[in-house]
Amino acid sequence: MAKSDVIVVGAGVAGLAAATALSQAGARVKLLERRPYIGGRAYSYEHPALEETIDSQHVVLGCCTNLLDLAQQAGMAETIRWYDELIFLEPNGQRTPLRPGRLPAPMHQTMSFLRAPMLGLADKACIASGLLRFLRNYPRDDSESFASWLKRTGQTERAIRHFWEPVVVGALNDTFERCSVKYAGKVFHESFLRSPEAGRLGVPAAPLSEFFAPIAALASRAGVDVRLKAGLESLEQTSDGRWTVRAAGETHCADAVVLASDFKQTRVLLNSLPATVEDKARMEAGFEAFVPAPITTIHLWYDRDVTGLDHAVLLDTRIQWVFVKSRIRRWPVERGCYLELVISASWPELEMGREEILSSAIAEFETFFPAARQAKLVKTGVLKEARATFSVTPGLDRYRPAQATQWPGLFLAGDWTATEWPSTMEGAVRSGRLAAGAVMGDRGRFMAPELPATGLMKFL
Ligand SMILES: Cc1cc2nc3c(=O)[nH]c(=O)nc-3n(C[C@H](O)[C@H](O)[C@H](O)COP(=O)(O)OP(=O)(O)OC[C@H]3O[C@@H](n4cnc5c(N)ncnc54)[C@H](O)[C@@H]3O)c2cc1C
Repeated sequence: MAKSDVIVVGAGVAGLAAATALSQAGARVKLLERRPYIGGRAYSYEHPALEETIDSQHVVLGCCTNLLDLAQQAGMAETIRWYDELIFLEPNGQRTPLRPGRLPAPMHQTMSFLRAPMLGLADKACIASGLLRFLRNYPRDDSESFASWLKRTGQTERAIRHFWEPVVVGALNDTFERCSVKYAGKVFHESFLRSPEAGRLGVPAAPLSEFFAPIAALASRAGVDVRLKAGLESLEQTSDGRWTVRAAGETHCADAVVLASDFKQTRVLLNSLPATVEDKARMEAGFEAFVPAPITTIHLWYDRDVTGLDHAVLLDTRIQWVFVKSRIRRWPVERGCYLELVISASWPELEMGREEILSSAIAEFETFFPAARQAKLVKTGVLKEARATFSVTPGLDRYRPAQATQWPGLFLAGDWTATEWPSTMEGAVRSGRLAAGAVMGDRGRFMAPELPATGLMKFL
């Protein structure tokens, strides 16, 4: 029986963060991952028919301090391309760039916002009054839906379509009814008000598995024993309080276990542990509250650049974002153009066939970028992720479990646990670091500091 101080289950972003922190703090750590690769949902793979490495584009914001701290430690911070400007595009070709100007936070976006042609005067007035409500902070209570907030604050139809919707659906990956004001407010507070740095958009400039490889290397350097294709089959607490797990035909034993698996797998594993009928019922009710939400991405390769942009938010269409990966990755022009269209909250697309998704996405894309009609479309791909994120539905907070559990020595991590963040890589790193802190008896020990507010926000 192999012994280690801590076994971490799941080498997604949360598991990698937990294992690295624990190992750096001196624990002997084994990291068991059932798949043949690390990164969990943040992965890329070689598509055999396309002969390309594809992934679903992930982005970060400047306020993702724990993810960025881990990236810094792993020496991969340079592989993030940073952008201060967001371009909103209308199908008629009208462009609205939003970028920080000279005014101090929270007014740093004011000048480009006032000039924004995508919004009328009445739209701007109600958006400004809406943002003012998130100035000091966002609500602590998560019971109200964003749909109800939009109605209560009298947002205009165009303000919703051209401002609130692209940001909220893009960031929280669900409809307004299934997003609480708390998390929508957090997105606006952090990305539009707190400081220009907090709202910067970072785009990994490499396929995700390549991007995250330095974190796995950091974990190995710190002494973590990483085992791939080692899915946990059983979990048991022995009479002396230690833990025994079985994975890939081997038995491992440890003082503590961190389950950094997704909520579906964690539910199965926890169900096998002894608990009272009431506790089991409470746990089941908690897991039932989680709604997985899909993202569909469409990958297009053209023989030449058809956008002239690295990325843009597309308005009045099913597609929320276009990421021109060939430009973000600084491909030489001769290599042609590779871009990805992102459809968030893509339930309808889950039911649609590949050809139907492709033809409607390409038709919409061409209305924004007519140059695409003249270029040669070399190859295409569609990637559906049915369980991309969980929805921050109103009232979900009370079901998000803390990292310490009722079983001594057993801890939970994963973006879905209690982190005060929505389903993101930052939420995952926070959960892993909180779990590592809980193992060491000091919850906040591994957390990176928040970005300071700047300008007038310092006084709020
Ligand atoms: C299409 C898409 C787009 C996204 N866009 C963004 C974005 O732009 N920005 C952002 O911040 N986030 C984004 N996300 C969300 C982000 O990927 C997740 O929040 C984050 O990766 C979750 O990490 P995690 O470690 O909590 O969970 P997971 O990544 O789910 O990791 C869990 C790991 O546990 C392993 N596991 C499960 N069961 C077992 C078992 N029994 N034994 C061993 N191992 C097991 C799994 O194989 C997996 O590797 C996106 C996600 C998707 C899918």
